[in-house]
Amino acid sequence: MSTPGRQISKVVIVGGGTAGWMAAAALSHGLKGTGTAIELVESEAIGTVGVGESTLPHIRHFNQTLGIDEAGFLRDTKATIKLGIEFRNWARKGDAYIHPFGDYGHPDDPVSFHHHWQRLGGEAAMGPIDDYSLPIQMARRERFARPTTDMGSLLSTFSYAYQFDAALYARFLRGFSEARGVKRTEGRVVDVALDGETGFVTSITLEDSTRIESDLFIDCSGFRGLIIEQALKAGYEDWSHWLPCDRAIAMPSASTHELPPFTRATAQEAGWCWRIPLQHRVGNGHVYSSAFMDDARAEDILMNALENEALAEPNRLRFLTGKRRQQWSKNCVAIGLASGFLEPLESTSIHLIQVALGYLLDFFPTGAWDPADAEEFNQSMSMEYERVRDFLILHYHATERDDTPFWDYCRAMDIPDSLKWKMELFRERGVPTAYEYGVFLPPSWIAVYIGQRILPRRFDPLAEAIPEDAARARFARMKTEIAALADTLPHHGVAIGMTRPPA
Ligand code: FAD
Repeated sequence: MSTPGRQISKVVIVGGGTAGWMAAAALSHGLKGTGTAIELVESEAIGTVGVGESTLPHIRHFNQTLGIDEAGFLRDTKATIKLGIEFRNWARKGDAYIHPFGDYGHPDDPVSFHHHWQRLGGEAAMGPIDDYSLPIQMARRERFARPTTDMGSLLSTFSYAYQFDAALYARFLRGFSEARGVKRTEGRVVDVALDGETGFVTSITLEDSTRIESDLFIDCSGFRGLIIEQALKAGYEDWSHWLPCDRAIAMPSASTHELPPFTRATAQEAGWCWRIPLQHRVGNGHVYSSAFMDDARAEDILMNALENEALAEPNRLRFLTGKRRQQWSKNCVAIGLASGFLEPLESTSIHLIQVALGYLLDFFPTGAWDPADAEEFNQSMSMEYERVRDFLILHYHATERDDTPFWDYCRAMDIPDSLKWKMELFRERGVPTAYEYGVFLPPSWIAVYIGQRILPRRFDPLAEAIPEDAARARFARMKTEIAALADTLPHHGVAIGMTRPPA
């Protein structure tokens, strides 16, 4: 049932981190011509979380929708290309695999390549499945060329994302948004006023007593959830029993001679370290569980992992994995860390900001507050979060590691039924569940299942349509073709227009 209301004439965004400026950019573009005023309030004194530099390929769609020129974006945000994530030491110490943004094999094959690989003897007979993936072979050689839409070409088998400087991306989007009329107000919000009858937010008040009214509030205030939690008490679903990492230390270091077009996640005693190469520096961090490791040990591990001199003091962060029970409550929509956080293992947080903005524009209130809009938004976001959650848990749970209490816990923990079902299906038949919703499609699940040493008991019988000898010859040729093609592509630095190699 709809509640009468007026046309949304103003939107106030609280927070100027990645979420706030992505919201400002998307809304200034999406609401163009509607006359809706957009104001963003941020506090330099509070600052932003200052991390969040590794993304998923969908970010390109976000930038393209806004009409952002890729070359200018790469230059201004010191971005590099990301073809996937390398996972080291996850299933066993010494293991390494890449979750690529792309398929194995050739696009013209109706049977998913992993079935052929399995039928022909898996790793023992065919070598690592990574040998049959162009994005992985490009990543390993530090090579890159943009994908094509020609489905007959191996160059159509992958996509790519970016690794960028989070502060520079926010600055970039600020320039974009201000040029499109977004008003930026500097100030610390000290009060949120609610309507006594409806509970809707009527205004926010800044430290200098400025009162800002609005029809719709977007809470991008980070972990604190200034409006959605502190004022509207939306509640939080705690998922830390499945995703027990709750702290991180971030520390940038100087560039090395390498410029790998991928993010690295190296499993440690009670968590994992990230390495994200940018044009001007390397982003590093250690995500860990405070129940299994103290802060001093966590910092030692990070310092030992640095390959070059540190460029800043450690940035220490605390979080609780989970999500707000309601991300849209009354006339407030929480986006970014204010809406929840699932830890950065698969770089999903910025993507979830983008998804939330898409749904917000889909269900943008027009003239009346229809509770169905908020309900649909909340249900859709819950589904997105749950799909990501299951994918992340898979990395921790599907391990053979038994060298620390943390890994014992992860291996033995009870997991959501939704994930149990998916894992069983893959183990039995090699089939990844099909998804209508969710960011990770079958190729991602296949990469992580196999990388985490979950191998199917059976393969698709259609793989046997090709006689075994012919299949072996065909895939041996394909492996050679992929390696040869990867060798011919430009160096990553050259492909993104860097004029000199990293230091
Ligand atoms: P913040 O950056 O915290 O911004 C909050 C804003 O609100 C700031 O501008 C602040 O000044 C403002 N504010 C707060 N209170 C007030 C107030 N009272 N008055 C006025 N203004 C206020 N995501 C990825 O996609 N990829 C990654 O690789 C990745 N790595 C991560 C690693 C770690 C350790 C963590 C913790 C997160 C990571 N994330 C990653 C998540 C990513 O950092 C965030 O999703 C992203 O930065 C968005 O943050 P935000 O804008 O919601 O919050």
